[in-house]
Amino acid sequence: MSASAELAERPRTSRGSDFDAIIIGAGISGMFMLYRLRELGIKARVFEAGADLGGTWYWNRYPGARFDSESWTYGYSFSKELMQEWDWKEHFSPQPDTLEYLNYVAQKFDLRRDMQFGSTVTSAHWDDAANQWTVTLENGEQARSRLLFTAIGILSAYTLPAIPGRDSFRGPAYHPARWPHTPVDFSGKRVGIIGTGATAIQAIPEIARQAKHLTVFQRRPNWAAPLHNAKIGQAEMQEIKSRYEEIYAHCAKTASWFIHEADRRKTLDVPPEEREAFWEKLYAEPGFGIWMGNFRDILIDEKANAAISEFIAKKIRQRVKDPKVADKLIPKDHGFGTRRVPLESGYFEAYNRDNVTLVDTINDEPIECITPKGVQTRAREYEFDILVYATGFDGVTGAFDRIDIRGMDGMHLKDAWTDGPRTYLGMLAEGFPNLLMVLGPHTARGNIPQAIEHSVEFQAGILRFMQEHNYTRVETRPEHVAEWTQIVIKASEPLLSSKVDSWQTGVNRNVEGRTVRRVLGYNGNGVHFRRKTDEVAKGGYQEFLFR
Ligand code: NAP
Repeated sequence: MSASAELAERPRTSRGSDFDAIIIGAGISGMFMLYRLRELGIKARVFEAGADLGGTWYWNRYPGARFDSESWTYGYSFSKELMQEWDWKEHFSPQPDTLEYLNYVAQKFDLRRDMQFGSTVTSAHWDDAANQWTVTLENGEQARSRLLFTAIGILSAYTLPAIPGRDSFRGPAYHPARWPHTPVDFSGKRVGIIGTGATAIQAIPEIARQAKHLTVFQRRPNWAAPLHNAKIGQAEMQEIKSRYEEIYAHCAKTASWFIHEADRRKTLDVPPEEREAFWEKLYAEPGFGIWMGNFRDILIDEKANAAISEFIAKKIRQRVKDPKVADKLIPKDHGFGTRRVPLESGYFEAYNRDNVTLVDTINDEPIECITPKGVQTRAREYEFDILVYATGFDGVTGAFDRIDIRGMDGMHLKDAWTDGPRTYLGMLAEGFPNLLMVLGPHTARGNIPQAIEHSVEFQAGILRFMQEHNYTRVETRPEHVAEWTQIVIKASEPLLSSKVDSWQTGVNRNVEGRTVRRVLGYNGNGVHFRRKTDEVAKGGYQEFLFR
C-alpha cells in the first residue's frame, strides 16, 4: 500500500485530525518525543526525510565521523534498562556504532511503526478555526494534527559552497552530510577537500591515509585539540554502568551538561608554571576538558583567552614539522574556544605527510572557481578525482527556514525571525500555537542528547498539564517571549564567541542574508536553565496561554 493510500485509510482521531501529533524528524529528538507521546496516549506520526531513522547519525557517514563527547554521557538516560543493556565500544563512539545504538533503541521500544521515511516536510500551516496543523510532504501528501513537534536538529540544513562552477566538476563531489551509504574508495585518488571545520578535521586524517594525494583548501583555520579516543573494555563498561546515575546527575549540575566543569580560578591569577602544567594535563586528557574544564575566564577575558590560545598555538607548532604550514594552521582572527572546538585524532600530523598539501585560500591562493577537472585558484588549477565539500550547515534556524511554517494569520516563521529568533525557552514561538520545538533556537544546548531529553521532558509536562485540564491549545505569552529573548541576548553578551563569525552566531556566507551575527542559543548556565524550567513547571505553566 502506498504511503498516501495508507494515510487516506487511516481513521481520523477526534476533531478531524489524522493524528494527535506530528513530529518532524526521526533523529534523537524525534525518537524520544515519539516515545513520550505514546506514554501519554497521544497518537503521533513521525515524518522523516531520510530513508531510515538516526538524523545526524544517519546522514553523516563520512570517514572519521564520531562523537567528540564521551559516549557514556551522550546516550539516552530515560531508560535505566536501556542504559544497562547497551555497551559502548569506544569512549567517543564512531558513527556506525551510534547508528546501531539508535536502531537498537528503535527496536527495543518499537518506534518504527509510527515513522514514515522518505517523507520530507515542505510546509506546516496552522488552521486557527480547526485548531490544527496541516503538514504537507514533498510528494503533496498532507496530514493534519493538533500538535506539531519540530525535531529537525540544529545542524541538518547542510550548505554547499557558493563557488562559481560548483556543479561543473566531472568527478564525484560529496558533502559529508550526504555521504554515500557504501564506503568511498579514496585509494590511488587525488582528493580535494574544501573546509576545515569539525567535520573536515575528523575526515582529513582518514582520507589522507587512503588517498594518493589530498589537497586541503583552508579558508579560516580552526583551533583544535586532541580527542584521545580509546576502546572501552568489558570491565570498564561495567564500571561505567554502575556509575550512570552519578554521571548523569553530575552532568545535570554543570554549565553545559558535560562531565567537564570549569576551574574556578582565573587564568592570570595562577602562576605561569602552574598554569602551563594545568594546560598540559588538560591537553593530554580525553574530551572537551581543554575547552570546558579550563579556567573560568578563558571564554570571556581577552587576556586569558590570548594566553590559552598561545598555549594551543605552541602545541600546533610542536606537532606540525613545517613551520610555515604550522603558522597557516594557527587561527589569527579568533581565540581558542570562541568557535566550537573540534577534537581531533592526528589532524595536525596529517600535514606532515608527503601526500597532503594545505592551500591557504585567504592569504595565498583564493579559490576562483570549480572546474570540470577540479579547483582553480588564483595561482593554478588543481586536478582531482574526488571533491569533498566539508562546508558546514546553515545552523539552528536553517532547518526551520527550509520548511514553509505559517502560524496565526498566515504569519511565516522565517519572517517572524528575520531579526533573530523569538521564543519562550526555545520551545514555543509567538503566534505559532501548538508548535513545540525540541532543541529550537534560544534553548540551552551544550550536551545535545541531554538537552534533548530535558526539552522533551519539559514539553511532556506541558502536555500532561493540558490533558489534566482538557486543554487542546498552548501558546506563549508575548511578555514572556520578550523577556526570554532579552535573557538569551544578555547571556551571550560577555562571551568572546559572540564577536566571532561561525554557524553558532548564525553566519554562513554560502546562504544569502546570513552575514549578520545573531544569537541562536541560550549561552547562559545550563543549571540556571534547568532551574527556570523547573520553576515554570512547578508554577503550573503560568507563562503559557492554554485553551
Ligand atoms: P563548519 O565548522 O561550519 O566548517 C565549515 C568549513 O567550510 C569552514 O572551514 C569554512 O570556512 C569552510 N567553508 C564554507 N564555505 C566555504 C567556501 N565557500 N569556500 C571555502 N571554504 C568554505 O562546519 P562543519 O565542519 O560541518 O561543523 C559544523 C558543526 O557540526 C561543528 O561545529 C559541530 O558542532 C558539529 N560537528 C560535530 C562533530 C562531532 O560531534 N564530533 C563532528 C563534525 C561536526 P570559514 O571558517 O572561513 O567559514
